[in-house]
Amino acid sequence: MDDTDEGDDHEKRCYSALFLGPQSENREYFKKMIDFAVDEHIHWRRNFNLSDRPIVTRSEQRERSYEETLEETTQTLATLSTKLKKSSMPWFSPRYIGHMVHDPTMVASLAHITAVLYNPNNVAREAAPATTRLEVEVGDQLAELFGYESENTGVNPWGHLTSGGTVANYEALWIAKTLRSAPLAIKRVEERSSSKFKWMGNEYTPRVKEQEPWELYNFSMGETLELLDDVLDQADDQNDQREFLKEIQRHSVRGLGTGQAPMGLETPGKLLVPRSRHYSWDKAVDVLGIGTENLVKIPVDDSYRMDISALERTVKDLTGGRDPVPILGVVAVLGTTEHGAVDKIHEIIEFRDKCKEEGVWFYLHLDAAYGGYFRSLFVDEEKGFLSVEQRERLNRNLHQRGIVDEGTGWPTKSVHRAYEATARAESITVDPHKTGYVPYPAGAFVLKDRRVLDLIAHEAPYVHRREVREDQKNPPFLGSTILEGSKTGASAAAVWAAHDVIGLTMDGYGLILGRGITAARRLYDEICEKSPFPVGGQEYLIEPVVEPDLNVIEFAVNRVDNSDLEEMNRINAELYRRLTEDENIPVPTQAFLTSHTELTQAKYRDVPRAFAERCGISALEWEENSSMFVLRSCIMSPYLLEGTVGEQSEDTDGDPIARYFAEFTDYISAALADISE
Ligand SMILES: *Cc1c(COP(=O)(O)O)cnc(C)c1O
Repeated sequence: MDDTDEGDDHEKRCYSALFLGPQSENREYFKKMIDFAVDEHIHWRRNFNLSDRPIVTRSEQRERSYEETLEETTQTLATLSTKLKKSSMPWFSPRYIGHMVHDPTMVASLAHITAVLYNPNNVAREAAPATTRLEVEVGDQLAELFGYESENTGVNPWGHLTSGGTVANYEALWIAKTLRSAPLAIKRVEERSSSKFKWMGNEYTPRVKEQEPWELYNFSMGETLELLDDVLDQADDQNDQREFLKEIQRHSVRGLGTGQAPMGLETPGKLLVPRSRHYSWDKAVDVLGIGTENLVKIPVDDSYRMDISALERTVKDLTGGRDPVPILGVVAVLGTTEHGAVDKIHEIIEFRDKCKEEGVWFYLHLDAAYGGYFRSLFVDEEKGFLSVEQRERLNRNLHQRGIVDEGTGWPTKSVHRAYEATARAESITVDPHKTGYVPYPAGAFVLKDRRVLDLIAHEAPYVHRREVREDQKNPPFLGSTILEGSKTGASAAAVWAAHDVIGLTMDGYGLILGRGITAARRLYDEICEKSPFPVGGQEYLIEPVVEPDLNVIEFAVNRVDNSDLEEMNRINAELYRRLTEDENIPVPTQAFLTSHTELTQAKYRDVPRAFAERCGISALEWEENSSMFVLRSCIMSPYLLEGTVGEQSEDTDGDPIARYFAEFTDYISAALADISE
């Protein structure tokens, strides 16, 4: 498609058919397709084994008890519906600007509902022949989204769905710790049971035998898997390969437990995470026995991204001394939960390359639960990922196709470079149920090299090699290599259908997300430019925390003459009470809904101080109270830019975001007047 062919208007509006609509505008289509799904399902049942007679008979259907059961069912469903309508969150409305969630796309909801009628269980192929295949396809698509295609990396990636980002993160840690202990395990097998594996030649032996535990621990993922491949190459047959893999598992952290120090090393290793991490990492080190003491928190810089020089110092301090401490892994975040900040993946990669030259390696996992789908903004249907060298072309495309507005300055070079570098990480978490606009539950885990699966499999290992056999593409028992057991195939159906219709490119997901980015950046500008406003004889100010990397904005309000942080926190907590679900305010009558967070010194050290000072809070006050209550909004709705919220007025005419912001600040002013009474 020529860049200039399509008019802006068409491009901006083509998501109109993607959602049910804030006022159920697409209800007729939605109902039609629900009917279609139910009809199809009914036919499907009726066509199964036509020789059987109906079990529920007409006369039974006329019985009193039969009718009573159905009446009760109707009653209960009506009660449920009332409860849901009374206090569910209106994700569909552009007035909902809170958590990392939005109304799912119609195609995703319809696919989910369609599939759920068949109750597929994706734990095993035989429990869901149709949807396990879809899950494999979706895994491949997500791997491609991050640049993991085998043409680029030379190895075959693997991806599957999880219940969410939390479990995907657990899985990353599970894999990291098992992988890191594998070279040591190979050495153990070599020393203790090589008589069992007579075919174990000598070719690979020097690669483990003459190495110290520290060196073996610091094998990269590629080195470990190549070593494993080379050893397996010498086995007589697949049975032998399987036996050998089982023996390795026994001698790895899987068999020995995390409490047992890997041979010669005294700790399971440190996991380095930014202070801005999601709390699932704290649970992960607990659940997986790494220990919270081994979770090392790296400070963030002024942009709330991981401070790379602090990371470098920590790695050097840990690994440099006379008793070096191994680094199990580093977690970087693409789109932090609080700020939507994008860590500088490219700089971490560069640093890791340098470390490797000095014999230190760490597993790199990207927690892109929120930020993963934003990579589609850089992907051109024909040209693929537009690199930093092609920035001009990227910007031209984003602007001309009406995806991101020119004035927003998005993406910054740092964000662009970070997304460019994703394929260098070992694994990635991404949540289709966040920025994939798919119903819960739908998280995903993506792994660069599927050969790792042999180290973690709980049934007979598959013996993955560089070449992937067809039967490995859709494994009979997914449950063998994932953390979960039974799980719905409806998620796979929903993600698959959404990807199919929307597309993981700038014109697909990029467009939906790009409109949110544009709205967020514009709102950020509005907040920056807003001069103090009067409320009941007092002046108030509104101040943003940090320039957004993606579409998350944070801000707080203060009375201009107030320098007391506790008082400021009280004001914002009271405001938030009027901006969230509250027992006393029915959800359907709420003007706006946001989320909130607290910027604490315990978590962010002194980074929020500059913001506190901009709000009129002294450094000393910040030192003493060390916590700031702020409002937080993830702008996932493309509809903020449609101008449906807010009155036309002379000041804001023609500018939907100015109009939206004016209505928002009017609401806040009224709330402040109420609070100050
Ligand atoms: C949301 C989120 C998670 C957790 O994902 P769930 O789907 O809620 O389990 C993990 N990491 C980040 C960065 C997130 O934003």
